[in-house]
Amino acid sequence: MNRRHFIKSSVAAAVAASLPVSHALGSLLHIPTKIETDISAVTLSGAGVTLPKAAVQDFSDSLKGKLLLPGSGGYDDARRLLNPSFDKHPALIAQPTGAADVASAVNFARDNELLVAVKCGGHSASGKSSCDKGLQIDLSRYRSVRVDRAARTARVAGGSLLGELDHEAMAHGLVTTAGTVSHTGVGGLTLGGGFGRLGRRFGMTIDNLLEMDIVTPDGQLRRAAPDENPELFWALRGGGGNFGIVTSFLFQLHPMQREVISGEFVFPIAEAKQVLRFFGEYADAAPDEMDVNAGVFGAPGGGDSMVTMGFVWSGDPAKAEKLIAPIRKAGTVLNETVKPIDYVALQRSGDTDDPRANGSYMKSGFIGSVSSNMVDDMIDNFEAAPNRMTWIGFQQSGGAIGRVANDATAFAHREAKHNMLSFVAWKHGDDPAEHMRYIREHWSNMQKYSTGFYHNDLFSANQAASKANYRGNYSRLLAVKKTYDPANLFRLNANISPA
Ligand code: FAD
Repeated sequence: MNRRHFIKSSVAAAVAASLPVSHALGSLLHIPTKIETDISAVTLSGAGVTLPKAAVQDFSDSLKGKLLLPGSGGYDDARRLLNPSFDKHPALIAQPTGAADVASAVNFARDNELLVAVKCGGHSASGKSSCDKGLQIDLSRYRSVRVDRAARTARVAGGSLLGELDHEAMAHGLVTTAGTVSHTGVGGLTLGGGFGRLGRRFGMTIDNLLEMDIVTPDGQLRRAAPDENPELFWALRGGGGNFGIVTSFLFQLHPMQREVISGEFVFPIAEAKQVLRFFGEYADAAPDEMDVNAGVFGAPGGGDSMVTMGFVWSGDPAKAEKLIAPIRKAGTVLNETVKPIDYVALQRSGDTDDPRANGSYMKSGFIGSVSSNMVDDMIDNFEAAPNRMTWIGFQQSGGAIGRVANDATAFAHREAKHNMLSFVAWKHGDDPAEHMRYIREHWSNMQKYSTGFYHNDLFSANQAASKANYRGNYSRLLAVKKTYDPANLFRLNANISPA
């Protein structure tokens, strides 16, 4: 029996479905899901609905990828998000392997008015990429990156992760702006804007988008680009998952050397105010190839808190030392880790071995320059605790990001010089109430310095706050939403409600 015949045989399918290795084999074979009963689900309005088993079977059979139900192998893995605090149980999970499957899933959701969640990397801060009793469309089987070296572009499938993009692009000596943790999804990060270590040099991730393919709520596969559906193209660059499911991104890449210079300086917590004031001035004067961040850190398990300043220099290595030297004089350096490092390795350096081991909570907002009063409020209210990791600080923006007009894309916070964050993480299973209370209290002292926030960092916000945060771009976004998604099928996001 040759391999093709073996794979097609029902014996193989039975083996794949019953043995412990079924998960691995099942990902190679297409084993149709047998629907045994009607399925209870919820609609967009929250009302209960019964999906007849024959209709669900038809939907399942229409997919080249999989349809998972509670109890199916892989269901728990698919429904889970990075933050284990979100523990939702969809009625059905579709795992498309291509745009045709995405269209089938969108058609099924629309025809049945189902609550629908879209998952790429699963990093959603608000937990909206899964849902209870709705249809989750999990893009994790829809990953690929193809680099065109001559055109300096990357064609990236809608479920891909940032690490896959960095890895493939750098193999050709090319890069584009991607976030700082490699298992973040290209989908969610890009559609919300996309910050990263190269953003000040090459712009936000959305600034490097040339075109997208998207399945809109009517089930049509459309191209969104400057010369086709240009309003949709504009709205997708910062308007999040409001308009459909992006099946393919085409990014502009840029030549860059493989090795960059990166490091972190640690100073005593007693010097926090002095170091952070220095950081503010240093960051304002930094060239585009320099990306700096700074903050105060309280380690889990106790021990001394510290203030840190980290950087990545992606410019000419010969110029690095002169730029780094002033940081050494910002305070008493307790430790420093400055070294040349492979860019792709650096992009993976923030990954955790067990990303679902920790719960987390964060408040954040965009700010202009770091002011003296801001630093006082940040440090006077800083409190570490042994049963959590606490990080409160600044991630730099500016450079090329700020040279794009606020209305050129849907992302409307170009003038920001930093994203200011109050972040806490704890061991999953511990009671988060005290940690979350602390972050809310800390943020109550800081919010007055911020003007809006990054939608992708949002743990929760009411509709009014989301609307205000789109600023002057809101009415144009609303017009695009009404054109493509008047029934608000895609509402689990920083929602633009057409109602
Ligand atoms: P998911 O949870 O899979 O998706 C989030 C939302 O995006 C979904 O609810 C859906 O509405 C939408 N979506 C996803 N894919 C698609 C698609 N193909 N089509 C349509 N809609 C889609 N942000 C930065 O800018 N820079 C960073 O360096 C950065 N670092 C981070 C590090 C960590 C550890 C975490 C948790 C977050 C970080 N973020 C960063 C924030 C990040 O941009 C958001 O969490 C983003 O939503 C993650 O995208 P995802 O695809 O992994 O998330």
